[in-house]
Amino acid sequence: MPTGTLHIDLEAVAANWRALDRLSGVSCETAAVVKADAYGLGLGQVAPRLIAEGVRAFFVATADEGLALRRTLGPEPRIYAFYGHMADDTPTLHRADVVPMLTSIEQITRHFETLPNHPFGLQLDTGMNRLGLKQPEWEAVAELVLAADPVLLMSHLASSDIPDSDQNARQLAAFHYMTDGLDIPRSLAATGGTLLGPEYHFDMVRPGIGLYGGLPFAKAEPVVSLDLPVVACFDVEPGETVGYAASWTAKAPTRVATVAGGYADGLPRSLQPDMFLMAGPVACAAIGRISMDLITVDISHLDRDPTHMSVLGPHHNVDELAQACGTIGYEMLTSLGHRYQRRYRGSAI
Ligand SMILES: *Cc1c(COP(=O)(O)O)cnc(C)c1O
Repeated sequence: MPTGTLHIDLEAVAANWRALDRLSGVSCETAAVVKADAYGLGLGQVAPRLIAEGVRAFFVATADEGLALRRTLGPEPRIYAFYGHMADDTPTLHRADVVPMLTSIEQITRHFETLPNHPFGLQLDTGMNRLGLKQPEWEAVAELVLAADPVLLMSHLASSDIPDSDQNARQLAAFHYMTDGLDIPRSLAATGGTLLGPEYHFDMVRPGIGLYGGLPFAKAEPVVSLDLPVVACFDVEPGETVGYAASWTAKAPTRVATVAGGYADGLPRSLQPDMFLMAGPVACAAIGRISMDLITVDISHLDRDPTHMSVLGPHHNVDELAQACGTIGYEMLTSLGHRYQRRYRGSAI
């Protein structure tokens, strides 16, 4: 038996892409970021559904992810890799027809030497200080690079989920300064930047998390829900303790459900003590420590023992759960383990 069932609503992914595509307007292409196995939700299911919705450009992190995506989607869509052209990537980029988004002068040199006729894009650093050419480097190599016809100039916003951060406008100005007047498609916005408004959209937006129902796209349709089966139910008497290190002590007669799922399944120990699981519409508190594969829950107030309890769903979205353990929806989604049975609603065909 799997630990639990992760329900993934591909129709909601498609609806979220459509909503972001409407925001970005007709003259701007809306790509889809599907790195890290589509944020943990399954590249092989998510990407074909997005193709059916009209997506023609995808972003992954690594060349290997690009190869897996190419095998799934066939020759048509454009696939870009954020890691650019790393030392061992040459054969994979070539074979999978993946466009590396070059990040440094070293990568530009490698690309021109090993795959001179292979399309490439360029990452420019406008202030995030993570990847991409800084302005003096760009000035030094722009002429040479532009002569080789890059297909996309890209930068990334560090604070786009904070709409009133000054950094957004500063990065926007830097991106204009570095790219205005060049007749090459440009992309600055991920999900957050797409929501900041048209001046951030340029020729292409690249949302990821918004497709999967996470903040900062507050209006996104929820995509994931997670149900865990109940393995056992029993009573404990006042004074008895529950779980590792006896961290919870019953003050009254208590009925406990032990459910299948734990920190090996992306439900970190730090979720407790604020974690609630739902039995239908009724919230039940997790008690005691979260184990590797098991969580204990106080179900004393239920009429009968549940067969399943829900961790993510209509009552509890991925950002709320993330907040309860001090992280963000991105990390919560990508941590959900591989022991769950995955059930997809909707399909590409
Ligand atoms: C991950 C990533 C994205 C997508 O970001 P979201 O916040 O998930 O929309 C876009 N661009 C770059 C460079 C990224 O690394």
